[in-house]
Amino acid sequence: MAERLCLVHYHEIGLKGKNRSTFENQLVTNLHRALKSFDVRDIQRISGYVVVESVDRQASEAMADAIRRVPGVARVSLAYRTGLDEGEFIDSAIKALGEAGEFHSFKVHARRSSTTYGRHTLEMNQLVGSALCEAFPDKKVDVHNPDVTVVVHVVQGSTYVYAASAPGVGGLPVGTAGKVVTLLSSGFDSPVATWMVGRRGAVCVPIHFSGRPQTSDMSEWLCQDIVDALAPSGVVGRMYVCPIGDKQREISLAVPQSLRIIMYRRLMFQVAERIAALEGAKALVTGESLGQVASQTLENIHAVNECVNIPVLRPLIGSDKQEIIRRAQAIGTYDISCQTAPDCCTLFMPRRPETHARMEQVLEAWDSFDHAAMLEELVDNIEYKDFSQCPSYHAPKGRLRTHHSELGPAPEKRASEAQ
Ligand code: ATP
Ligand code: MG
Repeated sequence: MAERLCLVHYHEIGLKGKNRSTFENQLVTNLHRALKSFDVRDIQRISGYVVVESVDRQASEAMADAIRRVPGVARVSLAYRTGLDEGEFIDSAIKALGEAGEFHSFKVHARRSSTTYGRHTLEMNQLVGSALCEAFPDKKVDVHNPDVTVVVHVVQGSTYVYAASAPGVGGLPVGTAGKVVTLLSSGFDSPVATWMVGRRGAVCVPIHFSGRPQTSDMSEWLCQDIVDALAPSGVVGRMYVCPIGDKQREISLAVPQSLRIIMYRRLMFQVAERIAALEGAKALVTGESLGQVASQTLENIHAVNECVNIPVLRPLIGSDKQEIIRRAQAIGTYDISCQTAPDCCTLFMPRRPETHARMEQVLEAWDSFDHAAMLEELVDNIEYKDFSQCPSYHAPKGRLRTHHSELGPAPEKRASEAQ
């Protein structure tokens, strides 16, 4: 009987020349992690695909669905594997086309990666094509623009047959592009920004600034939920939480109201830069989108950016809110971001924030309080939580300067323990 397996297609990796095997190996590692809850028998590379076999040799749609969400995957096909026997692969082609959903036209595309196989691909096309015409008499063959292509691929003594395939998220395997520190709030934008750089192969280490102790720790739990929601993509290794509420309070008393947000952000960027140095991350990432809110004018972006030396990536800078929302829905963070929690963004907000900050005023305000001491104190009191979803994350060897503690149990758990 033909075995059913998942055939993973990857485009961009193919373009990477001699780095190709590093990329493929990383993809295989990441797929192992993403498929932990399935009975996977084997994941191996063959001739431009990664083949995922389940223990019962009958891979499911659920498995294909989990694979689709892994960065680096361009498409996934539920394929049949048979030997070289024509009868077997023709039967599989009929089954595969029968599972392809609605279609009017099809074509057969035969390929050979084994030179030892006797038949020419033209001959295979005709053989399989005429069997399919007989099995599907009301469908027509269209070699130029078919609704479905039935691929029959002979590789190393086996034949792989598939018709429909589902698109994957694309991008590159996480772990092939270094590490970034992403500034993660529980809003819509930064989870999407995190996912986007992760999809380009970066290991993400989010840092969340909470308003604690001036606000509850609700936003921290929402951020943890966001990281959990991103688990299928495997982009996050560790999340840092920095309670900044008291410092915001001090800043709000020291500087002109309109410049508060810029001061908070500068401090956040500097803490994030420190974490990047500790983690060996090469860039910061934010969810900023040009002009979306007062703090995201070019002048204000410059006024904040100026206080760090590390590159700051803004993958959403040219995106509209609707595009961001659609992406948030697709990656599963939308519902979490809909829950509002007071975080440091809602704390001590000015009535009229500056939209076009002038640099001399920014620097004057910055020097009017002891930002250097604040930075040290915030870094000293930072907390973190590790996530097992990212096999390429390696925790830093250098320890945080004084103590660091894991985040505590979830609020429900704490409540039940207290009873
Ligand atoms: P988001 O939807 O990501 O919250 P936003 O539209 O609310 O963004 P801002 O509040 O101006 O916009 O924040 C801009 C960016 O600054 C965020 O995308 C995020 O990267 C970072 N940021 C804002 N607040 C926090 C926070 N509390 N912790 C960590 N990063 C933050
Ligand atoms: Mg926000």
